Parts: sequence; structure tokens; C-alpha cells
Amino acid sequence: MTGRLLIAHGEASRRILLAARATAGSGSGSGPRAAQVALAATLPELETKLAARCPDIVLLDAALPGLTATGLQRLATAPGAPPVLVLLPAAGGLSRLEALTAGAADVLDAPYQTDLLLALLRKIIRDRDSDREVQQRRETCRALGFADPAAPFAAPARIRVVAQPGPAAERLAAALARATPHRIDLQHPAHALDAPPPDVLVMTDPSETRARLPDIRSWDETRHVGVLVCFAPHAASEAAAALDLGADDAMTAGAEPAEIALRLDRLVARKRAAARLRDIQSQGLEAALTDPLTGLYNRRYAFVHTARLAEEAQASGRAWALIVGDLDHFKRINDRHGHAAGDAVLRTVAQRLRGCLRAQDLVARIGGEEFLIALPDTDRGGAIDAAERIRSAIARGPVTVPGRAGPISVTMSLGVAVARPAAEAPQDQVIRVMERADRALYGSKERGRNTVTVGRRRRSAA
Ligand code: GH3
Ligand code: MG
Ligand code: MG
Repeated sequence: MTGRLLIAHGEASRRILLAARATAGSGSGSGPRAAQVALAATLPELETKLAARCPDIVLLDAALPGLTATGLQRLATAPGAPPVLVLLPAAGGLSRLEALTAGAADVLDAPYQTDLLLALLRKIIRDRDSDREVQQRRETCRALGFADPAAPFAAPARIRVVAQPGPAAERLAAALARATPHRIDLQHPAHALDAPPPDVLVMTDPSETRARLPDIRSWDETRHVGVLVCFAPHAASEAAAALDLGADDAMTAGAEPAEIALRLDRLVARKRAAARLRDIQSQGLEAALTDPLTGLYNRRYAFVHTARLAEEAQASGRAWALIVGDLDHFKRINDRHGHAAGDAVLRTVAQRLRGCLRAQDLVARIGGEEFLIALPDTDRGGAIDAAERIRSAIARGPVTVPGRAGPISVTMSLGVAVARPAAEAPQDQVIRVMERADRALYGSKERGRNTVTVGRRRRSAA
């Protein structure tokens, strides 16, 4: 995970230990640890720091003095609130079910094993990013006038419990059938992926899950299946590894049926929202909103999406940024290597752009060799980092075009503009911020190309 973590715990030694684990732990997963950590010792301090620091995620002690289920619910469900991972002490404090029902993103039992803690933080950030992505893309589709298909009648989901045959497996399947409206079937691990695939797999063996996940996530038929892994305390590291490989949720074995039902409902809702979005986007809409050469979004989509982003920033109070990138001397590439080679270069550039952005960032082709990148929830430092990352990814190596003599070098000049939430029509703000990014781009061209320039804000303008 990246970004800002806020740890709220009543015991100083725990706060420090957790901060050390979250920033420098020896987790099995890849990716950076939390970049910045803030600490709160009391509930009022937590509330103040929540408002002042806009953390990306909160680690909250379930026994923090004064914390109630209602208080947690207020924190966790406020608009723009960061996800909360609730730490359950060995005794006392809110129960796991209370915490989950109140809106905690997840819970972690003492003694807070480092690799599981880190894997959960990464999973929670992943979920947050994909929820935001789904939400933003839906709103953009709505703003473009494409009907948002109403949530269809919520038919029961197909849940497959995968376990070695025996009384324990049968008890789990029976408990799920009682606690949820879903259709439950029980399968031996050898038949976990038999057709038709279910909506959710409940896997009772974490090492089996770990071994199967690469296949589950790479096959077309099973790519979008939800995976919930149950683990005994001694298998927490296996569960952490499964989460890092793409399991959607992990739960301690023997959880109450009400907890399993709650987790399944959340998982099914998230999968269905993503599936609905895929449906809208595939219903011919893709053709209207994307560029056939590169598959990136087109100018029309980018403009509406960015206006939505500006509107959202007004509500959340967070900064956002636009980057405009233009390939350097692209005409020469066409002249020397031919138009078809130029097209191949554009496709490679699109791939390289996609590869260095977050799920919630937008990348669009808004002109011949001109690209727009919109970054929600991004300040000046983050925007400069992203632009530098893009610049070096594009210049990383020449493009090899099959059938052409030599590799083709390519570079990009970029202009960055950071926007603060402003009290003006989002469309107007987008036009101004875009002009600022464009001017910065010209600055990069003037300064010799293959470079990043940050646009300056006029006084009192966003
Ligand atoms: P600069 O560094 O100043 O941006 O120079 P440039 O050559 O990139 O800029 P210029 O605007 O002079 O040329 C852009 C070229 O991009 C001209 C046009 O033929 C080419 N182009 C635009 N769209 C496409 C396309 O879809 N495919 C190909 N192959 N070329 C394209
Ligand atoms: Mg151009
Ligand atoms: Mg150019």
C-alpha cells in the first residue's frame, strides 16, 4: 500500500509497534509499505487528525476508550471517509461482528501478525480504489447520457464451498444456507472450478487457495469470481499470501454465520457492481467513448470524466491534477518510418501510460499524439511524481516495430496542473486547469522536450 496511515490506539507501545510493522514489516506481498504514518492516542485526537490529514486508511483499536459501535459507524460511513481496519485485542472492546456491521472494512485479531496486517492494508486500499473506479466510471457514463442500468433484482448468488468432504464442510455449507439467501453448493477441491463457475468461492484451505488463484484469475470463465478464504490462526501467513495473489476476502475459520453472511453480501455486491459496469461499457458504449487505435478513452469521455472529478473534489476538499503529454517530434517518426510504424508507436505509448498509473487514474488520447491523464486525490508532489514516472516510462526504451529496420526512439513532453477544489462550475474549472497544463506543456517543448513542467496557478485561481 502507499499513502497515509492513521493509527489510533490507546497504548503508546502498541502505536509504535504497529507503525513500525506497517512501514517496515517483512510482509510476503510486494509493493511499498505505508509512506506516512500519523498516530492518535484518543478518540478526540483521532477525529482531529482524520479531518486534518485525510488519511488513506485508519487502523483503529476496538478498545480505544470511548469508542462505540455508533461512533465507529459515524467515522466509517461519513462521506469521503477512509476505510477503517479494526484491531481486535485479545479481550475487551467492540466485537468483530459489531465492528464489521458498523462499517469497518475489515477486522484483525491480536496479535496482529505483520504479514496479514500488511496484506489486509493492501487489500483494503485495492478495494477502495476499485470501488472508486466503479463509482467514477458510472457517474461519467450517467453524465454522458448513457442510462445506468438499475440494479437488477438481486437474485441469490451462487456460492461454492470448497472443502475436503466431511462433517465440518457439511456444517459450514448448512450454516451458510441458513444465514444467507444464496444458493450454496459444496465441492471437493478437485472440482472447485467445475462449470458453471459460481459467483463466489469459499475456500477452506489457504494453501490450496494460494495454489489455485493464478489459474482462477487468468481464466476468462473465472477471472471475476469472488474468492473468500477461511483460515485457522496458524495459517495466517498463507491467507496473507492468498490476499496478495488476489483473494477478495479472508476470514478466520469458525466465524459466526452472521459474519460470513455479511462478508458474502459485501463481496457479492462489489462483484455485481463491477459486472454491471462491464456490461454498460461493452454495450456499444465502448465504441463511442474509446479510441480504436489505442483502446484509451477519447476526448469526449475524458472531458466529462474530468468534470466529474472536479465536482467530486469540491465535495471531498482534496486536490486533483491533470497532466497533458505530447510526443516529441512525432512527425519525424511518421516521415522516417511510415504512418503504420507511427501507429504502432502510439499503441506502445498507450500501454506504457497504462502501466504507470493507478486504477482510478484516467488516461485518454485527446489528439493525434496528445494524451490527457487525470489524477484524482493528488497533490503537487504526487502529480510531479506521476508525470516523471510517465516521462521515464515512455523514454524507457525504443519501440520495436515488426518488419521495420531499426528500433524507434520515442519521448514525451509533459505539462502538469494541480487543482484545488474551487467554487465554480466543474466544466469551467476543467477548461482552466487544462489550459494551464497546456501552457506548461509548451514550456516543456521550449525547454528542449522529454521533460516535465508544472503550470503555475494565478493568484486566487484554482
Ligand atoms: P513536437 O515535438 O513539437 O510536438 O513535434 P511533433 O512532430 O510531434 O508535432 P506536430 O504537431 O508537428 O506533428 C504531429 C504529427 O502527429 C503529425 C501527424 O501526422 C501525426 N499524427 C497525428 N495522428 C496520428 C495517428 O493517428 N497516427 C500517426 N501515425 N500519426 C499521427
Ligand atoms: Mg501535438
Ligand atoms: Mg508532438
